[in-house]
Amino acid sequence: MRIQFLGTAAAEAQPGLFCDCPTCTYARKHGGKDIRTRSQSLVDDTLLIDFSADTMDHCIRFGMNLSTISHCLITHSHGDHLYLTDLDMRMPGFSNMGEDKPFHLYGSEGVMQEVQKHLEKVSENAKTYIHCHVLPLYKTVPVGEHLVTALKAVHGGREDFRFYMIENQEGKRLLYAHDTDYFCDEVWEYFEKTKPYFHFVSLDCTEANLPWMHYTGHMNLENTGKVKDRLIAMGCADEKTVFCCNHFSHNGIDVLYDTFSKLAGEKGFSVSYDGMTAEF
Ligand SMILES: [Zn+2]
Ligand SMILES: [Zn+2]
Ligand SMILES: [Zn+2]
Repeated sequence: MRIQFLGTAAAEAQPGLFCDCPTCTYARKHGGKDIRTRSQSLVDDTLLIDFSADTMDHCIRFGMNLSTISHCLITHSHGDHLYLTDLDMRMPGFSNMGEDKPFHLYGSEGVMQEVQKHLEKVSENAKTYIHCHVLPLYKTVPVGEHLVTALKAVHGGREDFRFYMIENQEGKRLLYAHDTDYFCDEVWEYFEKTKPYFHFVSLDCTEANLPWMHYTGHMNLENTGKVKDRLIAMGCADEKTVFCCNHFSHNGIDVLYDTFSKLAGEKGFSVSYDGMTAEF
């Protein structure tokens, strides 16, 4: 299984669009791994996770070609995960691709309704080109060549937020848990009952090394550590599992790549950057 992290930032990106804090100033000056775009990842070159406002940037920088990708999981409707306007580009007049290879989107009922409502305003035949699929929680269903299970995220607000467990045909399993706080009891009970083993775990670390969390919905290094320890304690992961911190905000503490990768490394985490790939 292969994951490519395309965009590894939270909503503001890094440097933030309108920010002159020391982190953003450093990122502008030095570039490299401290340039982080909005959230998106690609699994096995065929399954996209999220459709952020930086999708175009990922196509240019990392050679992603959306005309060859047919399936995309959506975690939730925030703009760093779903940018509706760029979905218009799959409609006739904008795209020369026909009806034979639709783009399939998967997510909660609310988000799929939002996508459909938006696209119907763009084209009366929108459903021909983009198919929206509602994924039920805690049910493993085929998505393209993968098996996907939607899990409930803790992300504040009223939306039905999701994160995903993805398995490929070789039985390799990825847990991709972003825009979630420490998991809710429901998810832990599901893991307790089904005992999935994860080869790779990507965890939300929006606040990086911030010592305390001032809101619900994301994690810092301390909380990702708690998730890691619990997954290992219940047998869903072990010393062979790769744990990775991803989805960062410039407002996090010690968030610059070189600094944070040392701190996270001490706790057994790798740290994502835009374009990073991992095979497992
Ligand atoms: Zn986000
Ligand atoms: Zn900033
Ligand atoms: Zn969000």
